[in-house]
Amino acid sequence: MKLHITVLPGDGVGPEVTREAVRVLRTAADLYGCEVSLEDHVIGGVAIRECGAPLPEATLRACMQSQAVLLGAVGGPEFDSLPAGQRPESGLLALRQALGGYANLRPAIAYSAIADCSPLRSEIITGADVLIVRELLGGIYFAEPRGFEGGPCPSAYNTMRYSEAEIERVAHVAFQQARMRHRKVTSVDKANVLETSQLWRKTVTRIGREYPEIKLDHMYVDSCAMRLITHPGSFDVILTENLFGDILSDEAAVISGSLGMLASATIGGKVDLYEPVHGSAPDIAGRGIANPLGAIASAAMLLRHSARLEQAARDIEDAMREVLDAGHRTADLARGRAKRAVSTSEMGALVESAVADVTDRRRAYHAV
Ligand code: NAD
Repeated sequence: MKLHITVLPGDGVGPEVTREAVRVLRTAADLYGCEVSLEDHVIGGVAIRECGAPLPEATLRACMQSQAVLLGAVGGPEFDSLPAGQRPESGLLALRQALGGYANLRPAIAYSAIADCSPLRSEIITGADVLIVRELLGGIYFAEPRGFEGGPCPSAYNTMRYSEAEIERVAHVAFQQARMRHRKVTSVDKANVLETSQLWRKTVTRIGREYPEIKLDHMYVDSCAMRLITHPGSFDVILTENLFGDILSDEAAVISGSLGMLASATIGGKVDLYEPVHGSAPDIAGRGIANPLGAIASAAMLLRHSARLEQAARDIEDAMREVLDAGHRTADLARGRAKRAVSTSEMGALVESAVADVTDRRRAYHAV
C-alpha cells in the first residue's frame, strides 16, 4: 500500500512537532508495509515570507493531489498587524475550505499517568476517552442572512440553518466512529428550543436505525456541558453541530491536561486534514521543548482514517501511553515532578521506539 502525504509544518513550534509526528508515522506505516511518500510545503507566516501569500498556489495544488495533509500550526506576533485576509491564519482557513471536510474529530483522552495535569480531580477523569464529532460547514457560522442593522437601536443577527443532508452525512461519521470504539453515540442539541435541533434529533434518530449495534442517546447541550466536567467517562462519541461542537470540544480538552496533547482530524471532504489543536506557541518556539504528542496523535488519526491502518494507529496510541507511564514528560507536563523534562525530539524518539516494541510484542503474542 502507498500513501502520499503533503506535510505543512508551518510556523513557530509547528515544524518542531511535525518533525516528530512524521518520524513516528513513517515507522508505524513501515511496520505495516505501507509505503509513505511525503512532500513538504509552506503555509502561514513562512509562506508569506517566502512566497508573499499565506497559502501559495503550489501548496494548495500539492494538498489537493495528496491522500492526506498533515499540518503543524500557523501564526506569529510579527504578522498580527497585517490585515485579516493576509495573515497566516487566513491561509489555514482557505485551505480548510478548499479541502472541504465537514466532520471535525477531536479526541479528548485522560492518560492516567498525567491525570495530575488536569484541573479536574483524577477520580473524575480516570478512564475518560471521548471523541467529539463536530459538524463543521453548516449552522450559525455560515448561514445567511447575517449582518448588522442600524437605526436608533442598532442590532445584529445570525441565522442557524441545517439541511437534512448536512446532518445525515456527519451522523454517519459519528456512528462509524462509534463502531470502532465503545459503540455509543450521544447526540447533543437544544431540541427544546431550536427548530434546527429538532430536525437534528429526528434525522440522527433515523440514521441511528441503520446502526442497531450502536447505542444512541440524546442530550441537551447545557446538560452535556455539565456532564462532560462531572462524568467525562460516561461518554464515548459525542455528535453535535458546529457552534455546540466548537465550545464542547474546548471544554473536553481540559481532561487531557495540556494543549500539547490534543489531536484533530477534519474528514469527509476532498482530502482529509490532520493537525494538533494548539497554535504556533511563539513563546516557546525554537527552544525544543514543545510537546509533540498532539501532533503524533494526529498522525495516528491519519493512519486510521486516510490509510485504514487501525492497528498501526492503536500501536502509536499505546506507545504514547507507555512512554507517559514510564514517567517521561515534556516541560508542559512535567510540573517539577518528572526525572527531567524531555525535549521535543527526545519525546518523538521515545514514542518511535515504543511503537516498534508495542508492534513486536503484539505480533509475538498472536504468534503463540
Ligand atoms: P497557542 O496554542 O500557540 O499557545 C497557547 C499556550 O499553550 C502557550 O503558552 C504555548 O506555549 C502553549 N502550547 C501550545 N502548544 C504547545 C505544545 N505543543 N507544547 C507545549 N506547550 C504548548 O495559542 P496562542 O498563543 O493563542 O496563539 C499563538 C499563535 O498561534 C497565534 O498567531 C494564533 O493565531 C496561532 N494559532 C494557530 C492555530 C493553528 O495553526 N491551528 C491554532 C491556534 C492559534
